[in-house]
Amino acid sequence: MARIFSSLPDKPDHNALELDVLGRWEQEQTFDRLREQNRGGPRFSFVDGPVTANKTLAVHTAWGRTLKDVFQRYKALCGFDQRYQNGFDCQGLWIEVGVERELGLNSKREIEEYGLAEFARKCREKVIWSATELTRGSKRLGQWMDWGNDYFTFSDTNIEYIWRFLKLQHAQGRLHKGHRSTEWCPRCGTSISQHELSQSGVYQDKTDPSLYVRLPLRDRPGESLVVWTTTPWTLPANVAAAVKPDAEYILKPNGEWVARALEPDATAERTVLGAELVGLEYDGPYDHLPAVEGTEHRVIPWEDVTLDEGTGVVHIAPGCGGEDFELSKVHGLRVLTPVDESGRFYDEYGWLHGLSAADAADQITGDLAERGRLVASTQIVHRYPHCWRCDTPLIFRITDDWFIGVDDLRQPLLDANATVEWTPAYMGKRMDDWLRNMGDWNISRRRYYGLPLPIYECGCGHVTVVGSKAELAERAVSGLDQLEELRRPWVDEVPIRCEACEETVRRIPEVGDVWLDAGIVPFSTLGWESPEWVPQGYATGAAKGLTTADLPDHAYWEQWFPADWVSEMREQIRLWFYSQLFMSVALVGRAPFQKVLGYEKMLDEQGREMHGSWGNMIEAQDAFARMGADVIRWQGAAQPPNQALLFGFGPAHEIRRKLLTLWNSARFLVDYANIGGWTPSWDDLAAGPAGELQPLDRWLVSRTSAFVEDATAGYESWWTPNVVRAFEAFVDDVSNWYIRRTRRRFWDGDETAFAVLWYALVQGLRVISPVMPFLADHLWRVLTEPAEGAPDSAFLAGWPEAAERDDALLAEVADVRRVVELGRQARATAGVKLRQPLRAMVVEGAELARSHADEIAEELRVKAVSFGAVDASELRVRPNLPVLGPKLGKELAGVRAALESGAFEELAGGGFRVAGHELAPEEVLVERQGKEGFAVASADSVTVALDTHLDEELVREGRVYDLIHAVNSLRKEAGLELTDRIRLTIPADDADLLPHSDWIARETLAVSVEANGPQLSIAKA
Ligand SMILES: [Zn+2]
Ligand SMILES: [Zn+2]
Repeated sequence: MARIFSSLPDKPDHNALELDVLGRWEQEQTFDRLREQNRGGPRFSFVDGPVTANKTLAVHTAWGRTLKDVFQRYKALCGFDQRYQNGFDCQGLWIEVGVERELGLNSKREIEEYGLAEFARKCREKVIWSATELTRGSKRLGQWMDWGNDYFTFSDTNIEYIWRFLKLQHAQGRLHKGHRSTEWCPRCGTSISQHELSQSGVYQDKTDPSLYVRLPLRDRPGESLVVWTTTPWTLPANVAAAVKPDAEYILKPNGEWVARALEPDATAERTVLGAELVGLEYDGPYDHLPAVEGTEHRVIPWEDVTLDEGTGVVHIAPGCGGEDFELSKVHGLRVLTPVDESGRFYDEYGWLHGLSAADAADQITGDLAERGRLVASTQIVHRYPHCWRCDTPLIFRITDDWFIGVDDLRQPLLDANATVEWTPAYMGKRMDDWLRNMGDWNISRRRYYGLPLPIYECGCGHVTVVGSKAELAERAVSGLDQLEELRRPWVDEVPIRCEACEETVRRIPEVGDVWLDAGIVPFSTLGWESPEWVPQGYATGAAKGLTTADLPDHAYWEQWFPADWVSEMREQIRLWFYSQLFMSVALVGRAPFQKVLGYEKMLDEQGREMHGSWGNMIEAQDAFARMGADVIRWQGAAQPPNQALLFGFGPAHEIRRKLLTLWNSARFLVDYANIGGWTPSWDDLAAGPAGELQPLDRWLVSRTSAFVEDATAGYESWWTPNVVRAFEAFVDDVSNWYIRRTRRRFWDGDETAFAVLWYALVQGLRVISPVMPFLADHLWRVLTEPAEGAPDSAFLAGWPEAAERDDALLAEVADVRRVVELGRQARATAGVKLRQPLRAMVVEGAELARSHADEIAEELRVKAVSFGAVDASELRVRPNLPVLGPKLGKELAGVRAALESGAFEELAGGGFRVAGHELAPEEVLVERQGKEGFAVASADSVTVALDTHLDEELVREGRVYDLIHAVNSLRKEAGLELTDRIRLTIPADDADLLPHSDWIARETLAVSVEANGPQLSIAKA
């Protein structure tokens, strides 16, 4: 007999199958044909957030990529025309610091000695390597993107768009230089902005010295203030001590002044309000250092002094802290900045010069002790900010940075965010909180491989912001011929002429915050205000040769902006989502996206962060090989995005087991259809299965419609866990109900049964294909190949229409399945195996199952099923004490006794009347127990009771079932085909089973049954 379907092996080898499907998609150009098919259809605009190109694909990144791909595939199946442009983030500290490490460079000085041009080339190489790796990994994951037409943020085009943005901000008066105290990374030698501080991993536990230091009061011999600090390196920069004006301070017998609240038990020689200490002068801790000479130290008032730690007297060093710096402006304090860019003391700090902030701690502590200034010294573990890239503890420094003012944009930003639909909704509220509280955007970094800020600050005071390459060429005094890219060092060699005074002026050396690079993407990649379509217009500067992306024209931007949907992890609220929103509101006054799907973190299966050094990191390559991309995707799609994903091989194993149920159902159809010579018809898919449908067939068709509707609703609400859950329930119904109940019909070659099962499986595959494209498309190919007219990929088949559904029938079968499930539970509890037939069963509740009594009987191997009150069960009702105790008080004892003696009446709805009280269902604990000889199970107001008495005939039938099971196991072991006939010999001891030999023969395909063997044996007939 010619095979109709390609047969399927016992179980899928996910890795091999997926590589095979990838090859087929490539060869058959499936993705290109899909895009062609949807061209001109309704638009769905997705904009990809750029991935930092400094690494290979990590499983963390795979979660986000899965979600993006799931929804792009879903929308494509629904016929939407889409953009599939992947993006790479190619500049900034991530890239630089990685290259620095690889080159063994340890400071900015060493980078400059190495040479900026060569350093820039190395950074570019790193990006190319990573982009290649990320592309390879993403393809393996099954992500369909327009690979090769990616955008790279280091292209001149992207840079020029940011230049234009900055020029416009300058024209609107938002761009300014600020003299501020900012968080500073001494290793990277640059300030860190507010939104960078919000990245995960920034705040870590750190052990620091905890010093109590004495500051002698000038005009009060023997009296000192005591201040507390965890940053000894800031003490040389001390200029003031702050007290809370309305708090009480005490003078202790040893002459130390502290806040009463912090030493409530200390003896006080005097008690005063903080206000009375204000203005007193004291000797600073390092007055003898040249830099500090002549500095006046005094007590200042400060409402924000906290009284829950320290001494209530706060050491103020305006050059080393944000609040301190603000106080210096209010009180006219001197600002001492003790350390340079690399966090080392300046020369004027005497013996400290050249020491790093960290290294100085011990020496300062020792020095203070020697000079009798140290009251106490211990250690403290506290949360402390670290550089998000290199993990160095941050310090505060006063610097001149460039900022974009936010005050006039704050309300428009909030208004724009109000138009965005966030999933999960709380992430939108986080954005609101951030927008209400964020400060000006610090856009300058003192680094090398980044966006060159086009700011030219002339000695005459005039600031020119250059808005494009053409404008630079026009204003340039020299150096244009050596301008390889819009990048350091080349761009620094192109000075311009000042607009105001005609003098030559150089670019400021700073580069831009990397979030400018990513935030401009909805403009720079879509051709905003681009007068014409420029083929390969994105392949400029450093991106040359890496992509063939066009720069579209403005009409294109009008079509594709704003994005219908974007998706990134929660952390991006203050990063990419923010920078895009900011730039978009500043440029065009509206949000750049309409819907957002955010998701939480990925952790290991025990809920810990994954770290290379902890040995729990899973490499993507390893995950592909050992679990397969479908299973990785399944973990990501099944996970509610509002909770962390616990990713690992354990959950993967569980998923593979579930997918095997689907596989087995498809294999069942294939095997029996090949035997029965059944061929599917493509028309059945749209019109519904042909033939005379039996009730169970009609149920499966309805069940399929219900699944299509449930899953569609899941996709439409951007909530993949609902899609996955719906699919799991559907596969369970197909396999454990339809196939189980219909097996015989397949064996008999019933064409309708084939058509119905085929219909359900093929529709199911279409609907789940966005989540697990490989297995779905592989099975699609196997199941539809024989159907003339079927597309060669599920992805070319469009989205299924849900057919009509019979809700009454669905509810009936749901009740039947509930009863059967309870029946199995009851058997398990009573230790009666499923193969043992029983006489009778009573079902209470589950009224809808009444017309299916025969099916229930057959499923549970019970001779008779009746519906009615389960009098075979004993009801035990106990008071739910935490609820009833307070309600009944001393009457509880009487109620409890009545319940115990069974003197109660059960009410409709699950309540009880007892001893003059009516008790609600939640006020009691109900247990149903079988009377002697009955097995009972109960859930959701359905109770079943099985009569477990066995007579001789029942025992014999049980043995027949055991025998049939044993024979079929032997058939499998012997490698027989499903159609092979056998000669069966059973042990002589089992001769009493021979009256059932017809039954045995039918179930085992035996042509003869003899009971003369020493043991069970079969032979091919
Ligand atoms: Zn750093
Ligand atoms: Zn000038």
